[in-house]
Amino acid sequence: MPKTKRDYYEVLGVARGASSEEVKRAYRKLAVKFHPDKNPDDPHAEEKFKELGEAYDVLMDADKRAAYDRFGHAAFEQGGGFRGGFHDPFDIFREVFSGGGGGIAGNIFETFFGGMAGGQDRQRGADLRYDMQITLEEAAFGTEKEIEVQKLDICDKCKGSGAEGGSRTVNCPVCGGRGQVVSSRGFFQVSQTCPRCRGVGQVVEKPCRQCEGDGRVEKASRIKLKIPAGITDGSRLRSSRNGEAGIRGGPQGDLYVVVHIQEHKIFQRDEDNLYCEVPIPFTLATLGGEVPVPTLEGKANLKVPAGTQSAQMFKLRGKGIVHVNGHERGDLLVRVLVEVPTKLNAEQRAKLQEFAELCGDENTPLRKSFFERAKEFFRDV
Ligand SMILES: [Zn+2]
Ligand SMILES: [Zn+2]
Repeated sequence: MPKTKRDYYEVLGVARGASSEEVKRAYRKLAVKFHPDKNPDDPHAEEKFKELGEAYDVLMDADKRAAYDRFGHAAFEQGGGFRGGFHDPFDIFREVFSGGGGGIAGNIFETFFGGMAGGQDRQRGADLRYDMQITLEEAAFGTEKEIEVQKLDICDKCKGSGAEGGSRTVNCPVCGGRGQVVSSRGFFQVSQTCPRCRGVGQVVEKPCRQCEGDGRVEKASRIKLKIPAGITDGSRLRSSRNGEAGIRGGPQGDLYVVVHIQEHKIFQRDEDNLYCEVPIPFTLATLGGEVPVPTLEGKANLKVPAGTQSAQMFKLRGKGIVHVNGHERGDLLVRVLVEVPTKLNAEQRAKLQEFAELCGDENTPLRKSFFERAKEFFRDV
């Protein structure tokens, strides 16, 4: 469902020109306030927390921030070609509070997570990878694909809650709602994810019969993907929240689509340029003329000047591939291969012999210069 999104500057309560220090400070203050673990009774806390993570992610990254300032939220929408995408809000939180180099940040991290580190993304579904083959034409012009992915998805029957019709969720009896169990090993206390609730801290009184309380069932989903024009082989596209569903309504993982471009029977690609080899008759190379050459958009005519040598390269400007992030387009480079006839009839042979007699060394400039350079190798001993 499309939803109106709040302005990222407003989310963090900072001015448009705010420095990254100011953005970070604002994030630190609000992220602690809205962390879902601190607000178990507020159903909107997770949403607010995610929104903060998103705003921070964009405003701290110079490229994303510039794109946002220009295009607003549209810069990151699914149709915007997956450019960017957001980091996991819990990962951001951890990074901000652990990478702060001690001081106040370090203290907040410790008091906040005392004894339960490692359980932050416990409910999130796994990220998935999908390998997709596309043709060179599809890569050149962009395309839309619909794929089918077999994955753990939200259970229809309990809507992902894992609870059978109206059944309540209660604190897990094994870990008392902490999600972690602590055991002693010698001098050490080892904290582990609770095996009963799998770190969630809550269990349902009566589990849903369809998903056995997991909130997820294996299903085939159809997912639409937009492949941007100019995409390169091996590119990884992120389809946000199309990975595995989280346990009992936890956040969805992401789907990563790795794009493989099939070999083309005519063209070879080198970044934004295309190469191909076109054989031409030796008479045409000698006399000059036009040859039809293939391009991604169909036939084009290439003018070959008289006296063209084999392996000579011709450039068809702008007939290559569009650069993935811009409007610039590469070139098509055509290498002509001068072809020598393999079968001559009597008349052809006679004419060619006559022609050969008419030609002195004057007409073979490459050969002449070669013998100049190599003459010591041909000296009679
Ligand atoms: Zn269910
Ligand atoms: Zn438990």
